[in-house]
This record gives sequence, structure tokens and C-alpha cells, in this order.
Amino acid sequence: MQRTLIILKPDAIQRGLMGRILTRFEDKGLKVVAARFARLSEQLLEQHYADHKERPFYPGLVRFMSESPVLFCVLEGVDAIAVCRKMMGATFGRDAEPGTIRGDFGVSRSYNLIHGSDSPEAAEKEVALFFDANEIVEWQPAGHTWVYDAEDLG
Ligand code: UDP
Ligand code: MG
Repeated sequence: MQRTLIILKPDAIQRGLMGRILTRFEDKGLKVVAARFARLSEQLLEQHYADHKERPFYPGLVRFMSESPVLFCVLEGVDAIAVCRKMMGATFGRDAEPGTIRGDFGVSRSYNLIHGSDSPEAAEKEVALFFDANEIVEWQPAGHTWVYDAEDLG
């Protein structure tokens, strides 16, 4: 089992796509184990996007991500990090394959609807940055025994 941090970005919220995007993850069998709706501070975003600090798009990215609320959540599942990245699609909406979230809902470079952790190391860091350990809820969805077979769970 892996956990990954997902952020539905301001454009997803403003365009009323929150439910449709979350539904895709639920339909896939991913489990929400933490979630919050809030406006992100520039200070938190500076930590979250520290690796991009020197990039030309960084100031615009922090402005975009802090100017309107987002929904951020932790999703859990087998290979959740790679599964979610695949479902998100390529970074820029116009490059992203149809069938992916970015491919189906966007055409922009920076307004690309969603963030997802890109490695186990990043996921661990990002989950801890956005949530306290006691905010992660352990629970079993009623249908969980029909999502994975014993082999999936190793
Ligand atoms: N971004 C941008 N212009 C660029 C590259 C990235 O505005 O040329 C933004 C975009 O919102 C992207 C975020 O910066 O999601 C982080 O970039 P990264 O390369 O980590 O892409 P991701 O992991 O989100 O696919
Ligand atoms: Mg990234």
C-alpha cells in the first residue's frame, strides 16, 4: 500500500470539476484517508514547491496556487503514486492523453487542474507537510475485498 498527496488546484475548484475528478479516483478503487478544503498560504507553497524555486514559472505558480481555495487529500492504494500520476496525465493539458484528467479537462500549461506526488520520497514529505499524522484516517471501505485480490496485496 502507498499513500500519495493529491491537490485539486484552484482552476479545478473554480471550474466546478472537484466532484468529477474525485469520482475518477474513487471509481479506480483508491481510498481517501485524509482531505481538507482551504486556501494555501504562500509559505506552505514555498515549502511544497521548493524544488522549483529557481524556475521561471515559480512566482506565477505560487500566485496561482494561493489565490483561490484547493482541495487536498491523501489517497491510498497499491502503487497509488504511479497509478495517480498515470490518471493525471502529462503536465501540460495540451500534451496530456485523452482519458487522463489533464487530457480530458484542460489545455493550459500552468492551469493543469491537479498535483500528485511523483515518488515515494516526495509523497512522504508532502503528506507530512499537508497533514498531521493523527489526521490520516484508517478505515476499510465496505467493498474493499472486491478491489484487490490476495496477490495484489502481496
Ligand atoms: N508549471 C508551469 N510551467 C512550466 C512547468 C510547470 O506553470 O513550464 C507548473 C504546473 O502547474 C505544474 C507545476 O508547475 O503542475 C509543477 O511542475 P512539475 O514539473 O512538477 O509538473 P507536475 O509534476 O505537476 O506534472
Ligand atoms: Mg511535480
